[in-house]
Amino acid sequence: NKTVYTFGGGAVHQDPRAKDKTVTGGKGANLAEMAGIGLPVPPGFTITTEECLAYNAGGQTLQPGLAEEIRSGIAHIEQATGCRFGVPRSGVPLLVSVRSGARVSMPGMMDTVLNLGLDERAVESLAQSSGDDRFAWDSYRRFIQMYADVVMGIDHGLFEEALEIAKEDQGVLLDTELGVTDLKALTQRYKAIVREESGREFPDDPWDQLHGAIAAVFDSWESDRAKVYRRLNDIPGDWGTAVNVQAMVFGNMGETSATGVAFTRDPSTGERAYYGEWLVNAQGEDVVAGIRTPQYLTKTARERAGASAPSMEEAMPEAYAELARVFDLLERHYRDMQDIEFTVQQGKLWMLQTRSGKRTAKAALKMAVDMVDEGLIDEKTAILRVDPMALDQLLHPTLDPNAPRDVMTRGLPASPGAASGKAVLDADTAEAWRARGEKVILVRVETSPEDIHGMHAAQGVLTARGGMTSHAAVVARGMGRPCVSGASAVSIDLANRKLRIGSRELVEGDTLTIDGATGEVMAGEVSTIEPELAGDFGTLMEWADRHRRMKVRTNAETPTDCRMARQFGAEGIGLCRTEHMFFDADRISAVRQMILADDEAGRRRALAKLLPEQRADFTAIFRSMAGLPCTIRLLDPPLHEFLPQEEHDFAELAEASGIGIDHLKRRAEELHEFNPMLGHRGCRLGITFPEIYEMQARAIFEAACEVAEASGEAVVPEVMIPLVATKKELAILKALVDATAAEVFAEKGRTLDYTVGTMIELPRAALMAGEIAEEAKFFSFGTNDLTQTTLGVSRDDAGRFLEVYVAKGIYPRDPFVSLDIDGVGELVRLAAERGRATRADLKLGICGEHGGDPASIAFCEAVGLDYVSASPYRVPIARLAAAQAAL
Ligand code: PEP
Ligand code: MG
Repeated sequence: NKTVYTFGGGAVHQDPRAKDKTVTGGKGANLAEMAGIGLPVPPGFTITTEECLAYNAGGQTLQPGLAEEIRSGIAHIEQATGCRFGVPRSGVPLLVSVRSGARVSMPGMMDTVLNLGLDERAVESLAQSSGDDRFAWDSYRRFIQMYADVVMGIDHGLFEEALEIAKEDQGVLLDTELGVTDLKALTQRYKAIVREESGREFPDDPWDQLHGAIAAVFDSWESDRAKVYRRLNDIPGDWGTAVNVQAMVFGNMGETSATGVAFTRDPSTGERAYYGEWLVNAQGEDVVAGIRTPQYLTKTARERAGASAPSMEEAMPEAYAELARVFDLLERHYRDMQDIEFTVQQGKLWMLQTRSGKRTAKAALKMAVDMVDEGLIDEKTAILRVDPMALDQLLHPTLDPNAPRDVMTRGLPASPGAASGKAVLDADTAEAWRARGEKVILVRVETSPEDIHGMHAAQGVLTARGGMTSHAAVVARGMGRPCVSGASAVSIDLANRKLRIGSRELVEGDTLTIDGATGEVMAGEVSTIEPELAGDFGTLMEWADRHRRMKVRTNAETPTDCRMARQFGAEGIGLCRTEHMFFDADRISAVRQMILADDEAGRRRALAKLLPEQRADFTAIFRSMAGLPCTIRLLDPPLHEFLPQEEHDFAELAEASGIGIDHLKRRAEELHEFNPMLGHRGCRLGITFPEIYEMQARAIFEAACEVAEASGEAVVPEVMIPLVATKKELAILKALVDATAAEVFAEKGRTLDYTVGTMIELPRAALMAGEIAEEAKFFSFGTNDLTQTTLGVSRDDAGRFLEVYVAKGIYPRDPFVSLDIDGVGELVRLAAERGRATRADLKLGICGEHGGDPASIAFCEAVGLDYVSASPYRVPIARLAAAQAAL
């Protein structure tokens, strides 16, 4: 297999690996693709991701033979450009850029070194050939600074400082006011800094520079920042990154040169309009770095923003027209919104990069629906285009337009959604405050990959500098965090932990609200409203429903949750946890009397008080679910959880029950458990205190009869027994439920259909599923407990160490969030098979948290479950994920 693929300058490959992202990375594959469809791409070559893995596996050394391949890659660029790399020095020197490029775009890795190939002699040739001494020396200065920072790891602040001093010495304000002599002196100063800081000379030999930069890209794959990003985004460590080496084109060759970034549609709203930012006479990084404020791409956007600096459309109509042509070609080729980097060198347009653009959930939806209308993609592609988890952004509240707002300033609407929280001034503080349960807004001058953990911890991000394509904006959109960027009226005094917003003085910890859809920054907290579920959202959901096989139910136990879930499209209740009803303030006393009773008679007295309450609960639920199936689980948690704790709890209880406090305390002592999650809970309660389950079953059937009677709708209760390990347990409890049903039906003079089933949430139950299915009409996989008991990891305490496990790759993701498919999944698969072998029409579902996790949902589809059940806000996510899994 080849290790280097050339592109541009007439390079043609039959080898499909050249355009395979897994081999040449996203950037490399797309450069090859663009060059292939005839777009103006500066020639270059890509070193494969496999070389990165080999480099890191081989103790950070470039593989033998790679140097040779690199030489022939450079020869390709030389031939295409007519320039020469390295010695001998004559004619126009070849300068290259070196960039990383993993399979997916990944902030956190080394991104770019520009102008590589310059040394003391080449800079003279560049000056001569370009006829611009200043340009040549400024390029050299930038190169040393960038290379020293990115490749040699020397603090870029030192170079900034030297630059400031040089400007002060000359009494000038702008970099551009420094002359050739100043720049020459500055490059010497820079090299001295390198010597002082690293104890090494700055590499003068272009080949050394190139090998150094390539190694730095490979190293950056294993950097802490990259690892954090991978962990947060579920990117495997064994993908590696490719390296792209490409001929430089210059956006800083005077007023007919420019550089910019653009999207073929608005990444924030999804609107079908070119969207982007550009700068005249600038080099690539200037746009994203937020140092100069970029200008708008189109006239419309400029006018809309009321900006005065001319748009590219106005200032460079020809290059703009060419760019627009390229946009259309790219959209038609990729059939998706593209995110593009371009440079105009002396009037000629060059494409440096294209990729599918990151977008907000709102934009993703709108584009998917629009593109189906435009005939660009089909319904299935549209379904696959939208990340189910991103829907979360749309389902959560936005600011109430009628709520009073105390607007302090306005920045750019960089990532939508509204967020309130306490202002924090650095990423570590954000993380620390979040960990103690505070909601925070991270406020920074600008963000860098080092801030990612803080952005993740924050409800939202506010920056003083940077455009819509700044780091903060791009990362926040990717994470679904609201973000306002470039709010220039924000100034931060880090030393005193204070900030000024417009005319206001704030201190760290003051509450503020940001609206990422308008860019407003407000004092205090502003109230919010519920999201809009019709429109594009409704359309996509309809398509998803058409293409999915599994049903989607919800985990809910209050009428409010039931209604919410139905609005979100739930097709029934997959899990109604009846214990939640026991904690209500007005019943806890009766519940405690029941638990602490000395004998059955005492328990029955307390249960009699609970019966009408439970019946009312179920009546409300059956009504709000209007004939949809409802799985109701009988009492599950350890009695321990209901025990009185405080002195006044005991006092109240003694008062209500007429039993002495000391006696109650002794009884509570007896019920105390060391390992309650493995203790007296689930069906073990039903086995030991059958009257509890009997009361619940009675409440269910009485409520069902009542609602069926009143509404004429069929009510089909599915009674579920938790934590079953053996067939015998289920047989005993099923007999109890059946007997109770018969009693109620006899009393009411009517019958209705119902089923009795069980949760599979213990390994023994999964293994014995064939036998258990003889007694069960349905299984619902309780993967929370099944994960806990299979892994032997307490679901309540795992937070203390699981993070480390995930960081070390022991589990790829938190197994309580995303199903451990290899282990727990195997039990699910086996139980499904064994259960169905006994009872062909056994209904199978999942009601653990995993029922709302897309990767776990895909697994459920693969094992052929009938439905997944998720919390109400996760229902739309599950609908889309189920459709994607079925396609
Ligand atoms: C489960 O264990 O997966 C389940 C749904 O039950 P609970 O979370 O109530 O224990
Ligand atoms: Mg459970």
